[in-house]
Amino acid sequence: MTDPISLALVGLGTIARNQHLPSLADTPTLALKAIASRNAGLDGLPSYHDIDALLGAEPDIQAISLCTPPQGRFNQAAAAIRARRHVMLEKPPGASVAEVQALADMARAAGVTLFATWHSREAASVEQAREMLQDATITSVQIHWKEDVRHWHPGQEWIWQPGGLGVFDPGINALSILTRIMPEPVHVTAASLEVPANKQAPIGATMQMVSASGIPVSAVFDWRQTGPQTWDIIVETSAGTITLRNGGAQLFDGDTQLVQAEDTEYRRLYARFAELIAAGQSDVDLSPLQLVADAFLLGERIEVAPFHE
Ligand code: NAP
Repeated sequence: MTDPISLALVGLGTIARNQHLPSLADTPTLALKAIASRNAGLDGLPSYHDIDALLGAEPDIQAISLCTPPQGRFNQAAAAIRARRHVMLEKPPGASVAEVQALADMARAAGVTLFATWHSREAASVEQAREMLQDATITSVQIHWKEDVRHWHPGQEWIWQPGGLGVFDPGINALSILTRIMPEPVHVTAASLEVPANKQAPIGATMQMVSASGIPVSAVFDWRQTGPQTWDIIVETSAGTITLRNGGAQLFDGDTQLVQAEDTEYRRLYARFAELIAAGQSDVDLSPLQLVADAFLLGERIEVAPFHE
């Protein structure tokens, strides 16, 4: 067996601790060797204040996983690519579509791997749903993505700032599943953005989309849902209803449950990152980010009550 690829993680926050660290520990093809985070480090590993310090001090680290907020991620990724390191991006891959396209061009020119991850695409039911829909006659799709921002994002101010996406931060997970399971592209025709009077990003949003052949797709995103949380995609076909529930962890054909599996999304992402590096390939699909960008372009802005934690 070849040596594992040495990797450093940048931005030791919520998702890095909850998902990246345990998943890396379970990925034999990658070895975590260092951390860069302004306010955090890990015992037993070299820790640096920022990525520039890390890149200068660790020439043997081959790959960088960026777990920072999307704003500012371009400069970090660009520095890593310039230093000829492979780069894995948390979702959303950047704060704008064009900046990630620029990174893809830079990675190609540098001969390194760029992996723009969409963890929800690794949910247990997504590939099966995609296969079921390839030859189906789809008549409509509805997305219901409603959660409690106070529970999931306490103290995260970046998420409310320009480039933070607001409720599209979770909503883009639904759009990443949508763009994977639909047999043809979709585009936005209308949107509404409910923006708290004291914030820059929406707390609620709706989107109307349509596929190339005219299939209507609607989405409702809401960060004000307390109690049970809702992460469902309902696909109506001429043969019945296919439903992905709980963020794609469960799949139903009518009332019959086809899939119920434990969450291995980030383990699958890291295994794929190592495979892409070994194959000398990149994977950068910006279609979910493009849909969100277009919702901001076309969206009617509605001011709503100020948000306080
Ligand atoms: P977070 O808890 O705020 O952690 C991000 C970390 O990045 C911070 O702890 C911070 O560490 C570092 N950082 C660098 N520049 C920063 C800046 N300008 N503002 C704030 N932090 C900065 O955020 P997160 O929830 O882990 O999310 C990070 C990324 O993962 C986002 O793109 C998010 O969409 C994605 N994600 C999050 C979740 C989730 O459930 N939380 C799930 C899936 C994906 P230092 O202060 O030590 O530098």
